Amino acid sequence: MRLEGLHHITMITGDAQATVAFQADLLGLRLVKKTVNFDAPDAYHLYFGDEQGSPGSILTWFEFAGARPGTAGAGMVHTLQLGVAAEAALGFWTARLAAAGVATERTADGLAFRDHDGLRFELVVDPDGPDLRAKHPEVPAEHAIRGMRGARAYASRPFGADRALLVDTLGFTPTDTPGAYLVEGGGQRFRWAYDASPGHGAPGAGTVHHIAWHARDEDHVAWQQRAGAAGMQVTPVIDRDYFDAIYFRQPQGILFEIATTSPGFAVDEDPAHLGEGLRLPKQHEHLRPQLEQLLTPVADPRTARQEA
Ligand code: ZN
Repeated sequence: MRLEGLHHITMITGDAQATVAFQADLLGLRLVKKTVNFDAPDAYHLYFGDEQGSPGSILTWFEFAGARPGTAGAGMVHTLQLGVAAEAALGFWTARLAAAGVATERTADGLAFRDHDGLRFELVVDPDGPDLRAKHPEVPAEHAIRGMRGARAYASRPFGADRALLVDTLGFTPTDTPGAYLVEGGGQRFRWAYDASPGHGAPGAGTVHHIAWHARDEDHVAWQQRAGAAGMQVTPVIDRDYFDAIYFRQPQGILFEIATTSPGFAVDEDPAHLGEGLRLPKQHEHLRPQLEQLLTPVADPRTARQEA
């Protein structure tokens, strides 16, 4: 039994429309689902990804309107790495981000920048990974973002504190660098790595809420049992409408989720029109009239372009 790599990463924003502008209009990802938080249905939950909403391409945000900016600290993910096909793409993105007033910085791994909430991203050159692209009229296909390639977190304990869980239970591959692993499966080589803690962080806008690994549907319950046997406090299987999920907080303090492939984002929308309508979890559908009044409408730039 192997994980299929990353499924999605979920963040917090204080401004859903600004998140759509940054992720969809600027970075060129597709808004693949516009729904609400299961536990707080008056708050948006937005999903972005490739054209199909493939696992491994998905970034999601909970909106807590007006949330104060948070800071990544011990036990929190601080950088998301997105793949591009070639070095030339870094030049394209340097210019495109600069034109939008977003500062960039060359790093050993690629090109780093921060979104409107202060969340740090890094574009990394990886021609071999999965090609999970979305279409955007201003982003040439050869420069498009091709899916998630890695994430870096601040450790809250010595790097080895969760090594047994990662390697023996979840099947991550250790590398020669202390605290750095590869999650190999599903055609991905996702990099998961720790940096030394800068001290306590604070949750809020621009911080990561959890990271979800991808499991085959038929393995999901076995993963739940395996994580439980490793001493994790694992939730029951929860139906998230687009996948089933289990959650546990791992020894570094980071919330891990394991999510299934099925049913996927086309379960309640035509694949050609993903993200266009407000989709509500079944148990909250009866709140639609109130929620449509309460939630500030979010305009998808793709829909706006089609209408123009
Ligand atoms: Zn999740």
